[in-house]
Amino acid sequence: MKYDVIVVGAGIAGLSSAAYLSKAGLKVLLCEKEERVGGLLNSFEFKGFTFDGGIRAIENSGIVFPMLKQLGIDMEFLKNTVSIGIEDITVKLVSEESLSDYAEILIEMFPESRADIEKIMSEISKVMRYMDVLYGIDNPLFRDLKSDREYLFKTVLPWLVRYRLNIKKISKLSDPIEAYLRKFTDNMSLISIISQHFFKETPAFFALSYFSLYLDYSYPMGGTGVVSEKLGEFIKRAGGHISLGTEISRIDVDRKTVETKSGEVHSYSKLIWAADSKRFYSAVDIDSIRDIRVRSTVKSKKEAIADKGGGDSVLTVYITSDVEPEYFEKICGAHMFYTPSRKGLNSLEHYELSSMDKEAIYSWIEKYYSLTTYEISCPAVRDSELAPRGQTGLIVSTLMDYGLVKHIKDIGFYEDFKRYSEDYIAKVMADTLFPKMNSKIMDRFCSTPLTIERLTGNSDGAITGWAFTNPEMPAENSFREIAKSVNTDVPDVLQAGQWSFSPSGLPVSILTGKLAADKVLEELK
Ligand SMILES: Cc1cc2nc3c(=O)[nH]c(=O)nc-3n(C[C@H](O)[C@H](O)[C@H](O)COP(=O)(O)OP(=O)(O)OC[C@H]3O[C@@H](n4cnc5c(N)ncnc54)[C@H](O)[C@@H]3O)c2cc1C
Repeated sequence: MKYDVIVVGAGIAGLSSAAYLSKAGLKVLLCEKEERVGGLLNSFEFKGFTFDGGIRAIENSGIVFPMLKQLGIDMEFLKNTVSIGIEDITVKLVSEESLSDYAEILIEMFPESRADIEKIMSEISKVMRYMDVLYGIDNPLFRDLKSDREYLFKTVLPWLVRYRLNIKKISKLSDPIEAYLRKFTDNMSLISIISQHFFKETPAFFALSYFSLYLDYSYPMGGTGVVSEKLGEFIKRAGGHISLGTEISRIDVDRKTVETKSGEVHSYSKLIWAADSKRFYSAVDIDSIRDIRVRSTVKSKKEAIADKGGGDSVLTVYITSDVEPEYFEKICGAHMFYTPSRKGLNSLEHYELSSMDKEAIYSWIEKYYSLTTYEISCPAVRDSELAPRGQTGLIVSTLMDYGLVKHIKDIGFYEDFKRYSEDYIAKVMADTLFPKMNSKIMDRFCSTPLTIERLTGNSDGAITGWAFTNPEMPAENSFREIAKSVNTDVPDVLQAGQWSFSPSGLPVSILTGKLAADKVLEELK
């Protein structure tokens, strides 16, 4: 079958591309290897509880709401207040002023570092002001500027000047967050507590900007996956085709065809790859490229990314409890980042994987689980329909090294490790924040970086694309050049999603999805 555009991967990036291309009347095929759309933006049911399998809430960033509005997708969003907790003190982030409450917790934990904390807070305020500019208006890409001249002249043009200025300032704050904070304090526990729920070596501006982003989170009624479902419905209504259970395993570049794992062949005028980059380069059949120069460029790129790492992953425990949502609402609200100990992960020794046997791993993991930061989400606190009456489902996750879990699987105690993690993390929750949950847990199960790798095909189970620890970033990483991030070396193939730009995340996946769609529309005009 011949299509104008084939989009590979129905995560939020592929869905966004396919939605705009279908709306424009092109003949579109969206291929997804799983039996449902959404990728890392999904919700699932378990015994009457709805859980979010990927991102826990959605930050608008001037992108999500304008995109839905532009496509005419009507959805109800609920408020999603984020709280931060350390040991037995918690604070709700309700406005920019809440930053001073956060500072108070840190001062309570580290009174000797009061002056350092004040300096760090003023850095965070500075970055919050930059982010207010960056995400402060509806992103012009998602507004129809030709018809909305007033928005163009009164809002976009003055914003562009400030945007450029702020991008310059932001690019100066690209040191890894841990190193950046060392300029303000020698207190390594303090540095850990502020930075340990960010990915390793997250650029300072991106990490510090999260204090703005927390205020920008909303929750779709029905679960985060509703956004994906609505986009899927939109694509079908607009005449696009979605083929589920369809994994693309080979791209014939000169013939402009893709081959599915089950042997079907489809041809395209343009292809958008909205999935893992390494998978892309392994699907490209280099021998199908006759032009020697193109072949050698593609081959070099494939070799160059082969040893690059995916970013951090997470281990998540899903818990169903016979405890009412109001109990959790009082303690942690709907969404909390919680650290059970002020000691910080810096106090934990580094490990050499090859020398870690089962006993050494459990000893390390036990300490890790008592020191790490947990992201806790309670869907039913936001939307009571998401759990049986009087009961609550809890999603508790923490960053987890893909390499460690892979090693655990290789040496043969993966299932045991999962049970251990479920029990231990449920116990940490019941012993610290939620004592009432102690005898009222009904079920628990977990997903690991290997689960994420299997379900999405993302290298190293990465949840936001490339690792910041890569010596050279294999994707575009300058905001000024973000439009170029969708280009590939393969003729008539564009890319979108979390592997196409760094730093990434949901808004960047949508943005690159739209950029790729716009480029296709321009080239096929
Ligand atoms: C626990 C968690 C918390 C998060 N928190 C945040 C947050 O607070 N803020 C934020 O911005 N981001 C967050 N993210 C990240 C965000 O959810 C992702 O970056 C984003 O959803 C990625 O979308 P994507 O479309 O680029 O990729 P994906 O969602 O990975 O989609 C890729 C799709 O391609 C499919 N696929 C792969 N290979 C093939 C193939 N060969 N053929 C066909 N289909 C294929 C996969 O099955 C998948 O559906 C979080 C993620 C997780 C898991």
